[in-house]
Amino acid sequence: MRVLKFGGTSVANAERFQDVAKIALDTAAHSQTALVLSAPAKITNLLVALVAQGAAGNSGLKEFDDIRAIIEPIITTLGSKFEGFNTKKILSEYNKTMETIRKRVDGMALLGVCPELVMAYIESRGESFSILIMEELLKSLGKKVRVIDPVKVLVTEGPIMESSVNIDASKAKYAALEDDKDAITLMSGFCGGNAQGEQVLLGRNGSDYSAACLAAISNAECCEIWTDVDGVYSCDPRAVSGAILLRKMSYAEAMELSYFGAKVLHPRTIAPIAQFHIPCLIKNTKNPKGEGTLISEETDLSIPIKGISDLKGIALLNISGPGMKGMVGMAGRLFTAVSRANVSVTLITQSSSEYSISFCVNQSELSKAKRAITGEFKLELKEGLLNPIEVKEGCAIISVVGDGMRTVRGISGKFFRALAEANVNIRAIAQGSSERSISAVISQKRVPEAVAFAHTAFFNSKQRLDVVLLGCGGVGGALLSQIKRQREMLSSKQGIDIRVVGVGNSKHFISDPNCVDLENYQELLSESDSEALTPETAEALIKSAHLLNPILVDCTTSEELANSYIDYMKAGYHIVTPSKKANTLSFDFYKKLREAAKLHHRKFLYEANVGAGLPVINTMQNQLAAGDELIDFAGILSGTLSFIFGLVEDGKTLSEATQIAYEKGFTEPNPADDLDGMDVGRKLLILARENGMELELSDVKIDSIVEPKYLKGSNAKEVIANLKNADAEFSKKVSEAKAKGKVLRYVGCIKDGKVFCQLREVGPEDPLFRVRDGENALALTTLYYQPIPLVIRGYGAGTEVTAAGVLSDVLRLQNWTHED
Ligand code: ADP
Ligand code: ASP
Ligand code: MG
Repeated sequence: MRVLKFGGTSVANAERFQDVAKIALDTAAHSQTALVLSAPAKITNLLVALVAQGAAGNSGLKEFDDIRAIIEPIITTLGSKFEGFNTKKILSEYNKTMETIRKRVDGMALLGVCPELVMAYIESRGESFSILIMEELLKSLGKKVRVIDPVKVLVTEGPIMESSVNIDASKAKYAALEDDKDAITLMSGFCGGNAQGEQVLLGRNGSDYSAACLAAISNAECCEIWTDVDGVYSCDPRAVSGAILLRKMSYAEAMELSYFGAKVLHPRTIAPIAQFHIPCLIKNTKNPKGEGTLISEETDLSIPIKGISDLKGIALLNISGPGMKGMVGMAGRLFTAVSRANVSVTLITQSSSEYSISFCVNQSELSKAKRAITGEFKLELKEGLLNPIEVKEGCAIISVVGDGMRTVRGISGKFFRALAEANVNIRAIAQGSSERSISAVISQKRVPEAVAFAHTAFFNSKQRLDVVLLGCGGVGGALLSQIKRQREMLSSKQGIDIRVVGVGNSKHFISDPNCVDLENYQELLSESDSEALTPETAEALIKSAHLLNPILVDCTTSEELANSYIDYMKAGYHIVTPSKKANTLSFDFYKKLREAAKLHHRKFLYEANVGAGLPVINTMQNQLAAGDELIDFAGILSGTLSFIFGLVEDGKTLSEATQIAYEKGFTEPNPADDLDGMDVGRKLLILARENGMELELSDVKIDSIVEPKYLKGSNAKEVIANLKNADAEFSKKVSEAKAKGKVLRYVGCIKDGKVFCQLREVGPEDPLFRVRDGENALALTTLYYQPIPLVIRGYGAGTEVTAAGVLSDVLRLQNWTHED
């Protein structure tokens, strides 16, 4: 016999019923087959709601309507498709049941209460509908059917709503049934019968357990759990996109995973089948050809950790006090009291000093547990031997499970490091004595991040980078093209999974957790009616898109955005930017930004602030960290000026050279913004601050290249026309320098505590002598590099190199952890 259980989504509509019938007939073609069915999806929830309505004195009309809207189309559709399907008869039986339910709900409404036996009857009707329909469908397909009543076969013990099955007693009942080898056996899930023969329930989600019990008592060769996913995954596949399908796992692993919250299996499913060594297959009704997951004695030790699961709705209680120390039997009394109150304890930890015991119970059982404890320890609490019970509500238990844990080292280290990376606070820790699971109690609100980080640590060797880009003009656009080009290679060769999860400008913001369409983002953005990103919506995006390593890349020139970096860090984002705005605002803000980065464990990276893609900031930071000190700095920090000065050296006038640079798109829209030296001044301020100088922009002495009166004009044309008036004077300077074998350079300097930018004659011995045509050069004389300075030189302007500098900052964030 093979026992096949189909869950709610597998019998959600007429089409699914046909799928199930086909799977059943295919199986029956080679072995004796039994089906255990759940209620069609949503029906049990509606029946539970109906009971609540009745108990509250209402008639539950809406719930009745909703149930009808699901069940009736299943019956009529199958009736219209299969000739032998007697729609009238099935509808009439179904209506009879609905009428009985209605009477009971009305009765409840009058009484204002619902006895548990009535509740059990009503809540299990969904299963009875499934059996009614499937029996008729199989018969109409020409198959013999044997329906068995779980109330008569599964002998139960314990509470009415959450009973357990006595396998031995049930075995005897099953053996007494008449067998029919040619028939498909049908049994409704979720319920059984107690010693008095009353119908009881096996707990929510209990049909898996029904199937396992039927498999055990019928000595089945296999128990198959058919559901809506391809098998057991390393994590809930609906919560984590990269969850991995597991081919094989041991009973113990499956038991632990389901106990700690993996909903794919009811926690009590495994025990009965493990007892009789019955293999269990988890399969997908929508993908019957898929291999599924095989649960048996064997596991796959090449995957030491099988999964990460979470159990929500947990309360953590802590019992402490001087009376705990050395008092024999305290723990025994505590847990006896709790179990007497019928409260089940999910996790226990005790401090090694024996001074406190912490344990978890279901949130719904918290008051029962507290009452039991205060009752048991009334005296000790009164005398102060025990402190008042400490309770933390709104907790969840997150667990890693796997047989391989016993032999592989470092599992717990990895787990707790992952939680630290996710910035999740751990309230308690427990390791299963079987060494098959490690659990941490955390705030329920942090479950998505905790699970995602732990999953990445164990199952995904890829490093995630979740980029949110604001400003997709020149540099931003080039950055997106570079990411588009490099993504594949980064993923396959370097194990880096870089996704642009959002793109925005000052008006709109579009997002996609898997990666925005890097081909058509401009169109999508202009068509979008979304609002621009704010720190609040950015924070919400981390949660909704399950971002693991969110990075805000600011390619705008917005001062307002620069001013809100701290809020974005608070929201969880690293900041990467080529914009000089944030670093050249007040020194006070400069300091606050760095303090915030530290406080929120975020990084603020701005390599492209100086020298575009050249490795300037990073090199400086590394030198300083290695104990070096800057003595003297001189540099050509503007690609535009470097280009203009090259032309001037070759004989062009300043205005001609500026005109050429402007036409090639090398200048700012108004070239006066290059020639006034301000851009160089800002870069120099950033370098000075990097070296510990607490300066404001006003402390940087910035010489204009020509007198400011020659730079007047509201556009390039006016400025260049005006500049002609300075040509004669400027050319004179050029020739004077030439006569001495020197050239003119606009140089940014840091020397003797002074920071200044000036036009300067440099001779062939100077490293800046040969720097022209758009190149940048930075000469750093330091403790370690003297008298010959460290020179960083290369093309230092343009969107492509700047974007490359930004991308290299983004890539630096791959190995970042909160502990750094
Ligand atoms: P059924 O109605 O078939 O009993 P359930 O909804 O009870 O289905 O269980 C299947 C669901 O369990 C899946 O849709 C999935 O979201 C969830 N789930 C949670 N953890 C896991 C896991 N580790 N592997 C597979 N599914 C899981
Ligand atoms: N229908 C029941 C429930 O939803 C039992 C089950 O589907 O396993 O809880
Ligand atoms: Mg289920």
